[in-house]
Amino acid sequence: MSVDKNMFRGRTKQAETVDFHSGKPAPWKSDERVDRYVATHCCYCGVQCGMYLKVAQGKVTGVEPREDFPLNRGMLCPKGTTAYQTVNHPERLTYPLMRRGGKESPLERASWDEVLDAIVERFGGIQQQYGKDAVSVYSGSSLTNEKCYLMGKFGRVALGTRHVDYNGRLCMSSASGANERSLGLDRAANPVSDILRADCVFVIGANVGECFPIVTSYLWQARDRGCKLIVADPRQTPIARTADIFLPLRSGTDSALLNGMLHVIIKEGMLDEEFIGERTVGWQVTRALVEQYPPERVAKVCGLRPEAIIEAARTYGRAQAAMIYTARGLEHQSKGVDNGVTAVNLALATGNFGRPGAGYGTLTGQGNGQGGREVGQKATQLPGCREIENQQDREYICSIWGIDEQDLPHAGYPATLMIPAMLRKELRACLMICSNPMVSLPDQHTVEQALRGLDCFVVIDFFLSETAELADIVLPGSVWAEDEGTTTSLEGRVIKHNRAVDPPGEARVDWRIICELARRLGKGQYFQFQSPRDIFDELRLCTRGAKSDYWGITYEKIEQQNGVFWPCPSQDHPGTPRLYEQHFGFPDGRARFHPIPYMPAAEEPDEAYPLLLTTGRVVYHYLSGNQTRRTPFLKEQAPYPWVEMHEQMATRLDIGDGDWVTVRTRRGQMTVPALVVRSIRPDTLFIPYHYGHTQSVNQLTNPVLEPMMKIPEYKVCAASAVRATEKPAWAKDEDVAALVEARKRRREFPSAHAKPQLTMR
Ligand code: SF4
Repeated sequence: MSVDKNMFRGRTKQAETVDFHSGKPAPWKSDERVDRYVATHCCYCGVQCGMYLKVAQGKVTGVEPREDFPLNRGMLCPKGTTAYQTVNHPERLTYPLMRRGGKESPLERASWDEVLDAIVERFGGIQQQYGKDAVSVYSGSSLTNEKCYLMGKFGRVALGTRHVDYNGRLCMSSASGANERSLGLDRAANPVSDILRADCVFVIGANVGECFPIVTSYLWQARDRGCKLIVADPRQTPIARTADIFLPLRSGTDSALLNGMLHVIIKEGMLDEEFIGERTVGWQVTRALVEQYPPERVAKVCGLRPEAIIEAARTYGRAQAAMIYTARGLEHQSKGVDNGVTAVNLALATGNFGRPGAGYGTLTGQGNGQGGREVGQKATQLPGCREIENQQDREYICSIWGIDEQDLPHAGYPATLMIPAMLRKELRACLMICSNPMVSLPDQHTVEQALRGLDCFVVIDFFLSETAELADIVLPGSVWAEDEGTTTSLEGRVIKHNRAVDPPGEARVDWRIICELARRLGKGQYFQFQSPRDIFDELRLCTRGAKSDYWGITYEKIEQQNGVFWPCPSQDHPGTPRLYEQHFGFPDGRARFHPIPYMPAAEEPDEAYPLLLTTGRVVYHYLSGNQTRRTPFLKEQAPYPWVEMHEQMATRLDIGDGDWVTVRTRRGQMTVPALVVRSIRPDTLFIPYHYGHTQSVNQLTNPVLEPMMKIPEYKVCAASAVRATEKPAWAKDEDVAALVEARKRRREFPSAHAKPQLTMR
């Protein structure tokens, strides 16, 4: 968005508004040094908070929250308030790089012509010798919908390869699988504002306070209105501290707990029989399965008290309107899809769909984790959540793309299976964007071997990530503030990001790089886009009549309505904030129950590895940390990883706060400082996953995959811990003390909503 007088009017008006929390006049005022305020959204998590970027003399100089965006209403978390610092960061890539003398030579400055010609020549040579499918596209879900769509089309039309997938495979794919299996649509059932109308919210496997900070405010407001909050998590996360009922379950036992709660609901007559009869299928077989999960049995599996399970079931089952929120804690497992399905079973059995305050949602980690999984960059998918193996879908998309259906490739490898295919030399080249698998994939040593072994590895990024370091060619792309386009938030609300500045130096906006590459590959006629709006308009057409229907969504309508919820099938349709009011996403309109027996995690503790290791985020970092580890304030707060362990465990192992600890699994070992707490199960270790090289916890995690969606089991594997005999090379004593102190302070900071510390057994 260019200079906009309305923005200034908006600012003046905003200075008169009140702060959302305090009720006092808002502290911000229009800043004289600012030339423009560009209304946009945060680039980080799926909440997609509204913000203004301040622009002065052609540079982004700061940020202010937007009061007018209905989700964050003037709030931003620490990542949002510092996101602008990536724009002018001194480490931005400002010109193309390539290795001219082979794999062992350094990355050197090159011209755009040189690198683009080299890609065309190398990809062309590989495809000629080994076939079209020898080249893969590995995309991302922090890109706009326009770019995600373009990556899918580029892979299939410009390269003609079947191997197109994206990093949402590591993030939202279990959620997708469960949504599709049970509900027939892959989207949160409710707008976040529905939390305020719930009598009970059950959060399972979602560290809301750190991963989706602004959603916390909704949970607190709901509690202030009398809503009961149940939290299940192996760690007493910040949101768990405010819960009415906290269930510190053993990692990997989510489906047992959910079956156990449903067992109690059946036994105590809390079912919604009418809803089950009229709006679902498959109940009787699920009911029969759940009979086998009495709370006493489940308690042993989950490491909980039976009374706590019964109390949680009663609290959820008796609510007039209840919501369930899950996230990666439940989904990052080899049974992740099944876990999601058991959560939906519970909501269906109690009739908690299609009403205000009644529903189920999976909180989206990546900024565009929702849109990125709808617009056709998944291995089995065409735009609009269409299926690449469905003949009608193929013909429809080909009619828009102007290609013969015979020329449209079929399903390819998901991202996690690209790595073994690279090792087998079946895949010999890869174009990667917006992804950092050298931090984010498990079994890092194997990933490194696979990427180093490629004949041609091309990365588009704006920083030299751990993965870009391995590339043969690096193309400098754009950050979110340098382009416009839409994303789809965790609510299913399509919103618009606006351009504040141009990319620095020779860096280019990503969609132009892709279109130019297509042109040089001789496929320019299919990529004649002049703007993101052109791409969006084609995407809209592709989704017309599909499950995720964007046809009625325009840039103008998004601005007018502060976002539009899909499905939105026509120009005069307002969008659909709440799903399933009348029917579910299957042709018969009914949701599906599925009986899910509890199956243990792929790796259980044993004599050699007696503990459970789990991983996750901290509030200061985003995904692989490629951006947030470069942001001074965020880096200061969490400069490197640590291992969280319960004080009982620490005493047994003779480990104190700040001591160096070597954590081992069957994949490898790493040495990190200890953070001794009372807020984690004594049998569990936690290490945050935002770090690279020898600081990456994914050296340790288990690469075993969920069978349907191929997501790795990040959240549970067997591990051991001992006091280290040697510090790692990156250790600095004074930093460790500061880190432990900072984490302790945050943990001990009193909250008005916090319950007394619970004892974890
Ligand atoms: Fe909002 Fe998420 Fe950005 Fe924080 S990281 S400001 S919660 S969008």
